[in-house]
Amino acid sequence: MARAYEVEEHLYDVVIVGAGGAGMRAALGMAAAGLRTAYITKVAPTRSHTVAAQGGMAASLGNMSDGDNWHYHMYDTVKGSDWLGDQDAIEFMCREAPAAVLELEHFGVPFSRTAYGRIYQRPFGGQTLEYGSRIAQRTCAAADRTGHAILHTLYQRCLELRTEFFVEYVALDLLMDDEGACRGLIAWNLETGTLHRFRAHRTVLATGGYGRAYVSCTAAHTCTGDGNAMVLRANLPLEDMEFTQFHPTGIYGSGCLITEGARGEGGFLTNSEGERFMERYAPTARDLAGRHVVCRAMTLEINEGRGCGPQKDHIHLHLEHLGSSLLHERLPGIIETARIFGGVDVTREPIPVLPTVHYNMGGVPTNLHGEVVTLHDGDPESVVPGLMAIGEAACVSVHGANRLGSNSLLDIIVFGRAAASRAVAAVAPGDRHAPVPGIATERALDRFDRLRLSSGQTHVGTVRLAMQRAMQRHCAVFRDGPLLLEGAAKLRQIDETLRSDLRLTDRSLLFNTELVEALELDNMMAQSVVSLTSALARTESRGSHAREDHPDRDDQRWLKHSYCWLDKDGTTRLDYRPVHLEPLSFDTRPIPLGKRVY
Ligand SMILES: Cc1cc2nc3c(=O)[nH]c(=O)nc-3n(C[C@H](O)[C@H](O)[C@H](O)COP(=O)(O)OP(=O)(O)OC[C@H]3O[C@@H](n4cnc5c(N)ncnc54)[C@H](O)[C@@H]3O)c2cc1C
Repeated sequence: MARAYEVEEHLYDVVIVGAGGAGMRAALGMAAAGLRTAYITKVAPTRSHTVAAQGGMAASLGNMSDGDNWHYHMYDTVKGSDWLGDQDAIEFMCREAPAAVLELEHFGVPFSRTAYGRIYQRPFGGQTLEYGSRIAQRTCAAADRTGHAILHTLYQRCLELRTEFFVEYVALDLLMDDEGACRGLIAWNLETGTLHRFRAHRTVLATGGYGRAYVSCTAAHTCTGDGNAMVLRANLPLEDMEFTQFHPTGIYGSGCLITEGARGEGGFLTNSEGERFMERYAPTARDLAGRHVVCRAMTLEINEGRGCGPQKDHIHLHLEHLGSSLLHERLPGIIETARIFGGVDVTREPIPVLPTVHYNMGGVPTNLHGEVVTLHDGDPESVVPGLMAIGEAACVSVHGANRLGSNSLLDIIVFGRAAASRAVAAVAPGDRHAPVPGIATERALDRFDRLRLSSGQTHVGTVRLAMQRAMQRHCAVFRDGPLLLEGAAKLRQIDETLRSDLRLTDRSLLFNTELVEALELDNMMAQSVVSLTSALARTESRGSHAREDHPDRDDQRWLKHSYCWLDKDGTTRLDYRPVHLEPLSFDTRPIPLGKRVY
């Protein structure tokens, strides 16, 4: 039986959901300007997925590549996005990048150093000087723990500013009023089992990606895209959800990342017949071909029945021939990761690997101030009052159809800061709060109760695995019409089970992790449906979206961003908005359309 909940009320100027790099950078700016800022996170702030970022953060400081500048960075980013990225937002991000890194340095991020004491920068894929002529070293790194260094430094700054953290609070839903403005949100406190209404002039979603919608991903278990799903439930669209980035070598099962450096040192892939199959697909570059080429070859081998293991569903990565001393010298982290997460001693046996979801380019559509936009009265970028989104949850869009490595740590800092500036300009501390219609709270609690009191036959884990398998199989590296259609039918069935046959054994409100997982599953299901729908509609190949039945990019028809809505009954609706091909400043030259070849 449903129960009447007591809902505790809180009044703030701003409420931020998510304590990753994006949320914390935004909070800093807002709290420093005197806005009363509440900070909600379902895990301890320093456990947000940003902590796992290894490689670094791109900025054209030019410490290791003489003459590097933001124009080159902008060119690389537009090309990397396969021209789907918005050039005004990309210009903004690349211009701001050096200042963003220096600001972090002044906050205390312990970047690695060159012999001259400057910030160390390493090369990353797609980074060039002089518009593609030479390789650039642009990624600022704190050893291989850059995300860790950034997140801990930001957390310390937030503590210093006395930001109010609400830790282990799960945000459930946005509170929208009749005019379509966001007035705050409802959250559930895991520790006390109480419910809370946060009313605020600005609500900022910094809830990260939804990699966990797949069986195999490099993201943390908490990366379930809760903010994205809240936006769908508020009758707002998500943008470019067909674009998901895969990395070739995630450890089978856990999905933990094995760096490309492992193949750089001489590692190679084999199928179930022990064949080095990359020689057939990329005779010259072989195992070191581009990420998407390797992912495609691995997927084809598995689909044609040459996958390894009893389920024939993964590939082997061999390092054992390199010898123990070289492995210990050059890949010590990989030895440890493979042992802990794959149960494998890499000096003796291969690592089971699988192309693994690594990043979500799509998300909540925003402008470059972090304000959420939607299609309204014919305007595809009409601002939704009161609602903002930043970080991996948002789609600005700076990554377009494919993100370049080390541009995400940059994105979260630059747009976290921009969102703070916008909120500071728009909100006067202590302003009166607009009323919240009671129905908004009721709707959120109805969903909460529906899941909490589910009394069907199927457990959360069973439904989740079915959904993840469907996504891994049908919305993976390579797609075509029939595969996607079959996937959509499967998802409909699984969604039906979720709606009508879910079984929760724990009905309590105190630390009910089964309920947390059910809420997250419900969120991921919504995003899976819109991802598949958007992928089915886009009949071209662009960036990470590779359609075997439409292998070419089609700028005539598809140089546009997708918007996808999801109704309560599971039906979807698509619309599109133009790509911004004009840069931000009148004296910056647009990057003309070209082929994305390296
Ligand atoms: C293994 C790995 C390595 C990476 N390496 C790099 C790299 O080297 N360089 C680079 O540029 N990018 C890298 N990336 C990508 C980059 O790290 C992420 O895109 C970025 O850190 C996301 O930051 P965020 O602030 O948007 O979200 P996150 O850091 O994911 O934080 C999300 C926050 O939202 C909160 N939250 C979510 N839902 C709720 C809810 N319902 N209620 C309350 N709180 C909620 C969580 O508690 C968390 O605090 C890597 C990613 C992975 C997975």
